[in-house]
Amino acid sequence: MHTWLKPAQRLGSLPPYVFARLDELKQHARDQGLDLIDLGMGNPDGPTPQPVVERAVQAVQDVKHHGYPPFEGTANFRQAIAQWYYRRYQVTIDPDGEVLPLIGSKEGLTHLALAYIDPGDLVLVPSPAYPAHFRGPLIAGAEIYEMILRPEKNWVLDLGELPEAVAARAKVLFFNYPANPTGAVAPRSLFEEVVAFAQRHRILVVHDLCYAELSFDGYRPTSLLEIPGGKEVGVEFHTLSKTYNMAGWRVGFVVGNRHVIQGLRTLKTNLDYGIFGAVQAAAETALQLPDLYLEAVRDRYRERRDLMIAGLAELGWMIPKTFATMYLWVPCPPGMSSTDFALKVLQQTGVVFTPGSAFGRGGEGYVRISLIGDGDRLREALHRLRDAGIRYN
Ligand SMILES: *Cc1c(COP(=O)(O)O)cnc(C)c1O
Repeated sequence: MHTWLKPAQRLGSLPPYVFARLDELKQHARDQGLDLIDLGMGNPDGPTPQPVVERAVQAVQDVKHHGYPPFEGTANFRQAIAQWYYRRYQVTIDPDGEVLPLIGSKEGLTHLALAYIDPGDLVLVPSPAYPAHFRGPLIAGAEIYEMILRPEKNWVLDLGELPEAVAARAKVLFFNYPANPTGAVAPRSLFEEVVAFAQRHRILVVHDLCYAELSFDGYRPTSLLEIPGGKEVGVEFHTLSKTYNMAGWRVGFVVGNRHVIQGLRTLKTNLDYGIFGAVQAAAETALQLPDLYLEAVRDRYRERRDLMIAGLAELGWMIPKTFATMYLWVPCPPGMSSTDFALKVLQQTGVVFTPGSAFGRGGEGYVRISLIGDGDRLREALHRLRDAGIRYN
């Protein structure tokens, strides 16, 4: 390639894309006519709820949505967000300054990094983490401090492990519970510690609550803004992708500190024009769906979790029960790297797992299994593992 066609250094700062080799092998397997069972992506498999689709169809016919949408999102959608938030957490947020609709939360997470991180700033990110939590800051030129999570702490962040000098220099902290990829949940006390830590060291806190509604067995996830002081130190990202099977619609939102939201908005007015008004109307309807709908979604993922944990137990894996998310975090057979294991499983069975190393250094030695697909597909995946002799030990 000509040197003058070389991309900017900020692209060079990104770690290699672990999925590339996997994608190649997936394509190769498909070309050979192999029936892939893809449990690699976190892409919900159900349809968007019918009332949401109907609202969108209606809204598409409405000429008022055919022009540019307002930068800050429609007033109706922002109000629906504030009402949903109050119903869920009994916390009041101002729909005019403490809410911003996003083109999916990944967009917002990455742009927040660009709006708040300068080259050389120190950013605290758990490892393993959802890739946007470190890739956004890397694009912004951050120095990343990986806070390695551990199985013996149930993958819950321990701020006590952070060296004082690191805490003193840090500018932003990302965290995410219920967590992708580990499926871990964190006690309310962690959120209190994070707020106190942020106040003490003057750090901006970014919490990703994308699994706000996908929890089981009575467990209710905590929101950063429920914690006294939470709104002073940070923001929280939400998405409609997972709960409402709306990943393709590209809609999410951020709530929290108004100054931070204003900063993100200022950046975004230079980059995009917001979300198609009809999609915002549909999202408004989604947030107003009766709880019955949420119960059905939770039941679906809980049944899949139980099926998969029981099936993996027969293959020698003892996976602790998860209380949220659509993932299982599964150790590789002793001595195998996560990429080697995922490639072996793919080649021998056509079942796709995500290698833990895709989520950072702290993910090595594990693979993530997404609970995507109905019971029959998951049972078929388990049969194939058994027939290929793939076991934990
Ligand atoms: C799926 C996921 C997102 C992505 O959300 P979009 O709104 O679809 O961009 C964000 N964060 C985490 C932790 C996720 O698992």
